[in-house]
Amino acid sequence: MTFPMNSLEDIARAIKSAERILICGHIMPDGDSLGSVLALGSALEQLGKKVIMAGPDPVPQIYEFLPNKEKFRAGKPPESAYDTLIVLDCSVLKRLGSEYCDLPEQNHLTVINIDHHAGPDSFGHYRYIEPQAAAVGEIVFDLLEFMQIDITLEMAICLYTAIVTDTGSFRYNSTTSSTHRRVARLVELGVPVSRINVNLYEEKPRASNLLLGAALNTLSFSSCGKVAWMTVTRDMLRKVRAEDEHTEGLVNYSRGIKGVEVGLLFHELEGGKIRISFRSKEYVDVMCLAALFGGGGHSRAAGCEIAGNLKKIQNEVVAAAVSAAKGKVL
Ligand code: 5GP
Ligand code: MN
Repeated sequence: MTFPMNSLEDIARAIKSAERILICGHIMPDGDSLGSVLALGSALEQLGKKVIMAGPDPVPQIYEFLPNKEKFRAGKPPESAYDTLIVLDCSVLKRLGSEYCDLPEQNHLTVINIDHHAGPDSFGHYRYIEPQAAAVGEIVFDLLEFMQIDITLEMAICLYTAIVTDTGSFRYNSTTSSTHRRVARLVELGVPVSRINVNLYEEKPRASNLLLGAALNTLSFSSCGKVAWMTVTRDMLRKVRAEDEHTEGLVNYSRGIKGVEVGLLFHELEGGKIRISFRSKEYVDVMCLAALFGGGGHSRAAGCEIAGNLKKIQNEVVAAAVSAAKGKVL
């Protein structure tokens, strides 16, 4: 059975008729995923719903300042009963994580999917998918306004974090005048902009910077100069006592170099898989590039995971990125 795209009105109606709601974001959660889950969770609690916020991975240290982060349950899907599942910021089921990705198939659950990724693999009985949105946080903001829910300062902080992180601090071209209008509203509600940006960008765990040093030592360039990449192995993580979450943002150092169009990060995961982050600057569609390797994302930020030999994977991915950067049709 296929399901059509829905309006915010449909989503609001589905939420109103729900009683016990599980809200999930994606694996290795980022600011948009966590901020959106926590803001929506608080809003639905305000409506008197029984809400569980959960996901397979814990809240990264860098997001510990988010209000109500202690309500986020990391680990296996909760046992307690819920009638509705809201999935945020997940373009494909597998982004929910191996223990959660079967939940949307469970017959007794109403599944509401709210996302900003384009793609053919969307799922859910109700789908609000807006690829033009700079962050799912923008959609949650619109939904709360539509539902006339009072946005508390705690929710505003979560939504601001979702939007500021997914827009690269309002630098990416996904940022629109409506992004700034929504954020202006959040600031009027009292969001301490400077404090949050210090938390996000000036209070990095030491391990993040030690790992950055190690990763920069691996920086390599294609002969055309348009592709740059860095590598993080398990060994490097161990040496600086860093965790997987400390790789967040490293890929920007590959892209942020004169003449580079595509920046990559190869991150060796526990168990041998390689996570690849793709970022582009002006013209390469990295969503298409990542799709060649089973992943996806947005046109300027995408990712995938591949099992296999690191060097071999690196050669294949870099070759594809070089072709794309030279303007070849893939
Ligand atoms: P990151 O490099 O920060 O892990 O991911 C960048 C973006 O790419 C994410 O926001 C998400 O949209 C997308 N993405 C990352 N990994 C995957 C993946 O394995 N599959 C798909 N479909 N999208 C991914
Ligand atoms: Mn997002």
